Amino acid sequence: MRPGPDKVIECPHCRTPARVFTLFSGNTCGARTWTDGKTIALMLPQPPFITKCSGCNHYFWLSEAKVIGEIPVWEPEMWLNPRTWRRIPGKWRAAKHVRELSEMESLEAIGVPVAHNIEQEVHLRVRAWWASNDPMRSRDQCEGAQIQTASPRSLEATMNLEHLLELLDESDPYERIVKAEVLRELGRFDDAIGLLDFNFPSEYAGVAALIRGFAKKKDPVVREILK
Ligand SMILES: [Zn+2]
Repeated sequence: MRPGPDKVIECPHCRTPARVFTLFSGNTCGARTWTDGKTIALMLPQPPFITKCSGCNHYFWLSEAKVIGEIPVWEPEMWLNPRTWRRIPGKWRAAKHVRELSEMESLEAIGVPVAHNIEQEVHLRVRAWWASNDPMRSRDQCEGAQIQTASPRSLEATMNLEHLLELLDESDPYERIVKAEVLRELGRFDDAIGLLDFNFPSEYAGVAALIRGFAKKKDPVVREILK
């Protein structure tokens, strides 16, 4: 992985600067993927789509923020020549990096509202879902252990999944699988199996069979897709 310069953007509400890391190159070595669709690739990190301003606490989409400059943080010249560093405005140097929203922040952002269309609402609801599943990702992947340690979902997390079900399009093979996974994690195993009774394109057949298998075992826990 080779980092690129930090982009400097400004909050559309209060113009507080924030830094966004970039990559010159990366790879997916060691990447891990789960049945809820989340992938963690430590060698190919991605900036968030939406964040919360550290200055005014407004939520904003990075695509709607103005780029005002960049900081070549990893350039050798930066460290060899202090004048290069000093030419960068102090506000930029002190700016915080953008961060992912927490589960509660994603749900709060939906209520603000900051989602301008269904795609953005789905994005926020999926991020809230992923965040609620995160405590399960570091646990033992042993099947029995996972089922025993599955935590009950909060009311907010359950409501979020119910709303997500309404937004997903069953005619799209990918969204159909996501919907089946949501149903499985809600414990609606027969509904999940019913949705997976579908002629999926070959690239989705493997994960569809995996989720169907967990649903048949009445296992509601997010699972790592082991390669
Ligand atoms: Zn702001």
